[in-house]
Amino acid sequence: MGMSQNLITCGICKSKEETIVHSFLDCEMAVEVWGKVKLWWGLNNKEMKNVEDVFPGMEAEAHNKEQKLAVISIGIVTLCDLWRNRNEATFKKAEDIFLQIQKDSFRWIDSRANRVEIDRSLWILSPIIAINPM
Ligand SMILES: [Zn+2]
Repeated sequence: MGMSQNLITCGICKSKEETIVHSFLDCEMAVEVWGKVKLWWGLNNKEMKNVEDVFPGMEAEAHNKEQKLAVISIGIVTLCDLWRNRNEATFKKAEDIFLQIQKDSFRWIDSRANRVEIDRSLWILSPIIAINPM
């Protein structure tokens, strides 16, 4: 019986098959957003081939417990915001998603990092510098 291949096309780029890896890492939108996030944190071009690579890749540039918590938060928020964007009918620009990631991750980390006072504008500028417990 000739089953038609039921591939779901990515709703963002409308050109590739939608897979987990595609939606979160490979789609041009995800690539652009991750590029901004990595640059923001000061990550070198760490390759992320699978979703499991995201957290070890990001943690590589975290030098203490607080920075680790912060960079993990940013990773989670980035995945969430990419997913939220995918589920919304109207798609935003990568820059808008990135601004959302900056805001969401600040709220996230600010409510969790009890021992560290985090300056919001410094966080927007450079999270790795904002997370510097003395
Ligand atoms: Zn796509």
